[in-house]
Amino acid sequence: MGKPHALLVPYAAQGHVIPMMELMQRLVNHGVKVTFLNTDFTHKLVTNASSNDENLNDLASFVSLPDGVEDEEDRKDVGKVAESIYQVMPKKLEELIERLNGNDNGEKVTCVVADTCMGWVFEVADKMKIRSAGFWTASAVGLATLWSVPKFLEDGIIDNKGTLVKKQMVQLSPSMPAISSEDFMWVRFGDIPMQEIAFDFTVKTNEFVKLADRVICNSSYELEPATFTSFPKILPIGPLLASNRVANQIGHFWKEDSTCLTWLDQQPVGSVIYVAFGSFTLFDQRQFDELTLGLEMTNRPFLWVVREDMKNEGFINGTKTHGKIVGWAPQQKVLNHPSVGCFLSHCGWNSVLEGITSGLPFLCWPYFSDQFINQMFISDVWKTGLGFDKDESGIVSKEEIKNKIDRILENHEFKVRALDLKEKVAVSYSKGGHSDKNFSNFIEWIQGLQGYHIAAQAWPCLIYRCYKSYNL
Ligand code: UDP
Repeated sequence: MGKPHALLVPYAAQGHVIPMMELMQRLVNHGVKVTFLNTDFTHKLVTNASSNDENLNDLASFVSLPDGVEDEEDRKDVGKVAESIYQVMPKKLEELIERLNGNDNGEKVTCVVADTCMGWVFEVADKMKIRSAGFWTASAVGLATLWSVPKFLEDGIIDNKGTLVKKQMVQLSPSMPAISSEDFMWVRFGDIPMQEIAFDFTVKTNEFVKLADRVICNSSYELEPATFTSFPKILPIGPLLASNRVANQIGHFWKEDSTCLTWLDQQPVGSVIYVAFGSFTLFDQRQFDELTLGLEMTNRPFLWVVREDMKNEGFINGTKTHGKIVGWAPQQKVLNHPSVGCFLSHCGWNSVLEGITSGLPFLCWPYFSDQFINQMFISDVWKTGLGFDKDESGIVSKEEIKNKIDRILENHEFKVRALDLKEKVAVSYSKGGHSDKNFSNFIEWIQGLQGYHIAAQAWPCLIYRCYKSYNL
């Protein structure tokens, strides 16, 4: 008898590939065969950065398809990349599924689990009569905001291109925390043309997600109870992190520099400021220099992730005393290290989950998209962190950086609340918790599809047997 076979399709960005890889690990550990589809570009990044000690279950296999973006094109242009993917990949995905189903191992694709940002995948699955589930890798409130677009249009808060018309606080339901319309995900995407591209893409994507059987979300009921109650179609299964099952995080686009772990071993408990802005964020030179000076002024040890594409000379010369710089860190291990005292973060959702699970207070430095709503949750709802204020020239000054770091490390209430949140969230993914139950249901759904698939195959055979036994 063949195994259930899930085709997993992440969105082609670091913050989406890592959680989808973690989902893959969970599925194969439950006996589900997984084919993981990356774009050729991300597949190459992941393969080049992976180390040999990553023991992958035999049930996992990797495939890739071109995304249509040419080498000379700018991959940081999110809208362009998304558009190209949408033009090129649906046909190729169809051919891939036909190829996988043509393999003579009886393990046809029984379901597709796709990032909800890859809405077109649900259309392909629907066309091919394959059941599908959406995986939203960010906060539930982020998705709820997208699902509330028709209401925002009706209330005249945005126009039909997504451009902000009214700056106001909105509540998606009476029990949910109010969010600023200026923090809508697509509104925080840059200039107006970028916002329009992001909005158009988001709206398109949302239409297709309706074709999915269910939507799972990498969050937990304990983090966003009101959102999950008001939007019951979003099922929390998180935090889905490798560190929760004491395993290595996989799917990185850059090679990890593990020397920082030995460096952390030499620092006092709770003393280190871990500074990381995810895979995308860039700083202008002035702000970069100010951050360097601010970190130096604290006289505290800091570990700073400066990706190759962020580096510049001034910065390197400026940080000699207390800091350790790496190009890419094993972030989950770093955050769980006892020497780390706080997380200065861009508030990407994975980083938020990882910091919470490690019981750390945050210093929030959001950059774009949903990161501003995430910051609001950290500072106003969970009260486990602080944001930075900009001065009149639009810069976060070195004094502001030093002051906020001092406050977060010296006022123990932040740490107490962070540890409390960590405990609450741990209940969710422990046996019998909300996320655990939803995940078990999800596995049952996948296995049930396989049963259905086998029954469908077995039906003609059963009729034949009845026919024989009754000597018809
Ligand atoms: N990450 C890492 N090492 C680093 C920086 C980031 O492993 O030095 C990982 C981090 O653990 C997280 C992901 O990269 O899982 C970044 O995702 P997030 O949603 O935080 O931010 P994005 O990159 O999408 O902006």
